[in-house]
Amino acid sequence: VKELGGASYCVFSSEMNEEVQRRLLIESGLRRALERTELYLVYQPYVDLQTSNIVGHEALLRWNHPDLGFVSPVEFIPVAEETGLIVEIGLWTIREACRQTKLWQEEGHQDLTISVNMSGRQFQQQNLVETVRNAIASSGLDPAFLTLEITENIAIHNERNVMTKLQELKDIGIRIALDDFGTGYSSLSYLGKYPLDILKIDKSFVQHSYTDSGEKEIVKTIIAMAHSLKLKVIAEGVETTEQLQYLEQERCDVVQGYLISRPLTAEDCGAFLRSKRHD
Ligand code: C2E
Ligand code: CA
Ligand code: CA
Ligand code: CA
Repeated sequence: VKELGGASYCVFSSEMNEEVQRRLLIESGLRRALERTELYLVYQPYVDLQTSNIVGHEALLRWNHPDLGFVSPVEFIPVAEETGLIVEIGLWTIREACRQTKLWQEEGHQDLTISVNMSGRQFQQQNLVETVRNAIASSGLDPAFLTLEITENIAIHNERNVMTKLQELKDIGIRIALDDFGTGYSSLSYLGKYPLDILKIDKSFVQHSYTDSGEKEIVKTIIAMAHSLKLKVIAEGVETTEQLQYLEQERCDVVQGYLISRPLTAEDCGAFLRSKRHD
């Protein structure tokens, strides 16, 4: 950096400065975001390929920061994890997503499920299972309609602890999905070991599945393998009818992606649900 000269060095360090400042704003902002109701959930429907019905939604966090505007979860979730704020935010997310789903069920969508993303940090909480149980109870939702999505890196530390908690969550009736399948290092070793119900094929495979024959074979193999382990398969990131047709042909169970709908606010999602009813 030194030999680049003074000017370049200044540009470099002021960029660093901006980055650090943004990070500080995000960190301090997150601490107040919940109570100021700047955080909210959007819902992305997923569809059962056998019935073509919307069978559930994935809840996704959104943050509208007063100065920074819209901040992506890809940016603020890691900060929430590092600071530990994800524990409180994560519980709020479960409570809110279950409450909303219970409302939709009462409007007549009785079998609607809800999927909520979990961070590894939440599994380090000793009382995770108890707090999750309370969060669901406060919503009145039957735990069988809640799916928690985990990723492979959830068990980097203390695998035994994670395994125990997952089993306890399952004992309550909650379903467990392995998210982003195929992107980590240990995907295969997870499948036999963890008490899973659902496998979500990462969108990077789904989106190549029409043009790239190698990727196509991977998708096909993942589906077959999951089924032989009695897991349901959700394909995420489905954007084209070609991708959809291929997934149908290979007997994928459920699809999610922009082709069906982008993530919607609760209000828009309710309207979308009503428009799809055909009974
Ligand atoms: P994810 O769990 O893999 O969520 C799927 C992401 O793919 C979402 O991005 C969703 O909007 C996007 N997506 C859905 N359909 C399509 C599609 O057809 N094409 C493309 N290109 N993208 C699609 P989003 O909402 O920006 O979330 C990004 C990540 O942030 C999530 O990835 C998840 O890891 C994390 N995240 C979001 N909400 C939460 C939360 O409540 N808790 C935790 N721990 N993480 C969350
Ligand atoms: Ca997810
Ligand atoms: Ca995913
Ligand atoms: Ca992801």
